[in-house]
Amino acid sequence: MPARILVVEDEQAIREMVCVALRQAGFDCLEAADAPQAQARILATMPDLVLLDWMLPGISGVDYARRLRQEKLTRHLPIIMLTARTQEEDKLKGLETGADDYVTKPFSTRELMARIRSLLRRSAPQTVDNAVEISGLHLDPATHRVQANGASLVLGPMEFRLLHFFMTHPERVHSRERILDSVWGGNVYVEERTVDVHIRRLRKVLEASGHDALIQTVRGSGYRMSVQG
Ligand code: CA
Repeated sequence: MPARILVVEDEQAIREMVCVALRQAGFDCLEAADAPQAQARILATMPDLVLLDWMLPGISGVDYARRLRQEKLTRHLPIIMLTARTQEEDKLKGLETGADDYVTKPFSTRELMARIRSLLRRSAPQTVDNAVEISGLHLDPATHRVQANGASLVLGPMEFRLLHFFMTHPERVHSRERILDSVWGGNVYVEERTVDVHIRRLRKVLEASGHDALIQTVRGSGYRMSVQG
């Protein structure tokens, strides 16, 4: 599944150049020319990473990064700031607002892609064979085993994949469309309510240990795995 990158940049030429490079590198690209557009894109389809230009009309990239960090929905969204500024002080300011990394213009697309991949590796470790554990729920992709507080659970194959997806992308809201893309794969035609059916099955298996509460329905948006209630 290609990672989805949101490019927030008011200069159309740069935005398009970056998007072309992203698509060539196998990523999905979403575009926004300013902060309000970016916000609308995020609410419609949660990206895996945001490339955020420092200089934007209206709300600056720095202010918008700060806002993304303050909101529950986007608190963990990886952010790379793009900027023409090279001073060390500005760099620190950018990172203080919550950006994870910083790329100075002019940049080579190769350098940018490398930074994106590096940040995605850190922030979205669906490196398939790593076992994951959240609140006593343990999933091991290598052995296909799931345990809740040490007790084995029996999950169907789709429920297993669904749980794996949630556990490797916690604390973020995923639309049904995004879940279908990631868990079922983009080439299969499945109705969105299929997601609801499998979520229900998954919750039922997790009920005995109380872990069903980790999977939350976010009205109008989709689902989220959260330990924060
Ligand atoms: Ca700009």
